[in-house]
Formats: sequence, structure tokens, C-alpha cells
Amino acid sequence: MLGNFSYCNPTKLYFGENSLSNLSDELKKYGDNVVFVYGTGSIKKNGIYDDIIKILKESNKNITEIEGVMPNPTVEKLYEGIEIARNHNADFILAVGGGSVCDFSKALSVSVNCNEEPWEKYFVRFEEPDCEIIPIGCVLTMVGTGSEMNAGSVITNQNTKEKIGHAFADEKIMPKFTILNPRFTMTLPKYQMVSGIYDIFNHICEQYFSGTDDNTSDYISEALMKSVIHSSLVAVKNPNDYEARSNIMWTATWALNTLIAKGKTTDWEVHMLGQAVGGYTNATHGMTLSAVSLAYYRYIMPYGLDKFKRFAINVWSVSPQGKTDEQIAKEGLLAMEIWMNEIGVITNISDLGVTKDDIENIADLTLTMDGGYKTLSRDEKIKVLSDSL
Ligand code: NAP
Ligand code: FE
Repeated sequence: MLGNFSYCNPTKLYFGENSLSNLSDELKKYGDNVVFVYGTGSIKKNGIYDDIIKILKESNKNITEIEGVMPNPTVEKLYEGIEIARNHNADFILAVGGGSVCDFSKALSVSVNCNEEPWEKYFVRFEEPDCEIIPIGCVLTMVGTGSEMNAGSVITNQNTKEKIGHAFADEKIMPKFTILNPRFTMTLPKYQMVSGIYDIFNHICEQYFSGTDDNTSDYISEALMKSVIHSSLVAVKNPNDYEARSNIMWTATWALNTLIAKGKTTDWEVHMLGQAVGGYTNATHGMTLSAVSLAYYRYIMPYGLDKFKRFAINVWSVSPQGKTDEQIAKEGLLAMEIWMNEIGVITNISDLGVTKDDIENIADLTLTMDGGYKTLSRDEKIKVLSDSL
């Protein structure tokens, strides 16, 4: 049965090749002191930095920059950013980059006016902000996380090797607007492109592989999965295919703007395992998910057999004729593995630098979710991680 829910997504989207032309009108709605946040160099190489600076200057904004936001942004970087934003009396944060820059900017937006220690408050105690939140806007350059239209933020504490995500409930944390230009993603290296594609696919799986009810969200999820599978195969052959790249960008937004989670339970254990691997290795997010997924889904499949059978038939077009439910479900996961290999994502954690000796520590850093078909015990986390080696 569809559960009760409320739904409000306040992020305004501008999509398409000319979408950056909307930035100046959006900037008029916010104060003059803008903090321009970006990553470790890609926007300077591909020219997006110059375009943004020009628009900010033409809009007569007082600009300060936080540059060097790294993939898997750290608490230390957040502290540095808080100082810069406070000194600038920030009115608005403009995030230009991928999920790391967007997530970092959200964490910044709830920390600048907060008197408490942000890591402890938001990423250990999972509290909501009770201070004034600085509005943010995004220009997305890397596709996958859905951070452009949600209130999630993932931060890494290198001292404790913890990588923790907080899906904030307060919709004020969502970007006020996001500019989505598929052309901006075309300078991404293939490794990042396919990592993002697997992140999208797994966001959908995390919400799909939960519950036994008949739920509209699952039908939408199947359609989104089919779209991303199709477009990914086109994009790996021709990364400049605008149609495929734009469909991937749009699917990413829908995969994690909370719509397909409404009225149903969700899992997120693959993200917990992946984040633990990521906190340990600093590996690329999507690759940490692909590296643990096959072992995880094969392990939980018997506990959610009906859904895995449905996944095989509806998403992977497995023929059910003359086969047991288990055979059908296994064929679905095999089809998924073949696709993962075809697009070129990593399917084991050894390739990310994890060894047998790390497994127990990583299992202990893996948070436990209870919405999936099997809540993993410590021993089961160790088994799934060992099977992922
Ligand atoms: P990312 O870490 O933002 O970016 C990955 C790499 O791609 C960076 O090296 C970046 O370089 C480069 N890059 C970005 N745009 C580029 C472009 N147009 N051309 C060339 N290179 C480009 O990747 P992401 O996967 O989007 O974000 C990952 C983070 O988001 C992780 O911490 C993950 O845990 C988190 N996450 C958040 C959510 C959520 O709901 N909020 C969901 C899933 C994951 P530069 O640094 O030079 O820009
Ligand atoms: Fe993700």
C-alpha cells in the first residue's frame, strides 16, 4: 500500500544547451555577497569558470571563491570554507561542479551561521539546522548524485575514515535553482562518466529493492532504469551523443530528487557499504557502489525473490518461460553484471585497493539500514565485502 507522505521539491531547474543564460536573472533574487564554490580545476580548463565569473561581474556581485573542493569533500575543507564565507558575510553560495561541490555547498550553507561543531551536529547526530541557512544555487558539471535537486550532503572525516551522508529533511537546504547543461558534462573523463551512470542506476535500485507492495514508484523506477541502461550504452560508444548525455543527466535528477521514494520503504545498504569503502580508500563514489553491488544483491536476492524476478523480466527482458523464480532472478543479476562490464565500471573492491585485512574495519564502518530485504549483521557485512574482493 502506498504510505502517507508530503512532497515538496522547491528546486527550480533550467535544462539545456542555453541554460546558463538564466543565471543572471536568478542571481538578482539574492544578496550581493556571493561565495563561488568549485572543484580542483576542471572548470578552469573547460572555460566554465570564465563564463561564470563574467556573469557574476556583470551582475555586480562581490565575489569570493572557495576553490579546490575535492571529490569526497572533507571536514577540514568545510572548516576552511566556513571561515571564508563568514569573512565575506555570505548572502548566497554558487556551487559549480559535481556532487562533491554541491554537497560541500549544502554543508557550508547550514554551517556558516551555526554555533555548534558541524561534523558532530550534522554527520554524527544527524540533526537538522536551527540557524539561518544560506541559499545555494548549482551549475552542474558532473552527473550522477542527484545532489542538484535534493537535500543530501556527504562529507568525509579523514581522521576517523568515516564518510557520512545526511539526507536533510529541511527543504530549505535544497538548491534554490540548478542549471543543467548536458554539454558541460562532455569534458568528463570516461571513468567519471560511467561512475556517475552507475551511481544513478544504484540510486534507483536502493529505492526499488524494498517492500512487497504495489507502488507506482516501482513502475517509474523500472522506466528510469531502462532509460539509463539504454543511454549509457550509447554514451560509452559516443560520449558526444547529446541525446544520450541529456537523458543521462535528466535521469540522474529524477533518480534522487526523492520522488521515487515517496510512499514506499527504501534500502540504501549499498551506499552504506560503498561509503565505508570510500571513507577507507577515497575511491570514486560510483565505483565503490559498483564494486560491492553484485555480491550484495546476490546475497539478498533470496529474501526479496519476487522483486528480483520482476527486475529480471521488466528491466532486463529475461524470458520467464520454463524457469524457476530463482533462475529468472539470477538471470536478471547476470544481465546487470554484463551491462556493468560493458560500460566499464569496477566490480570488485580489490581494484579499489581494499585487501582482505581491511574487511573487518570496513564492515565496522558500514552503517546498518533496515529497509531492504535483509538487514545485514556484522558477519553478513563481512561476507558481502569478502565476496566483493
Ligand atoms: P565529483 O566528486 O563531484 O567529481 C568527480 C571528478 O569529476 C572530479 O575530479 C571533478 O574535477 C571532475 N569533473 C566534474 N565535472 C567535470 C567536467 N565537466 N569535466 C571534467 N571533469 C569534471 O563527482 P560526483 O560523483 O558528482 O560526486 C561525488 C560525491 O557526491 C561523493 O562524495 C558522493 O558520496 C556524493 N553523493 C551525494 C549524493 C547526494 O544525494 N547528495 C548522492 C550520491 C553521492 P574537479 O574537482 O576539477 O571539478
Ligand atoms: Fe550515490
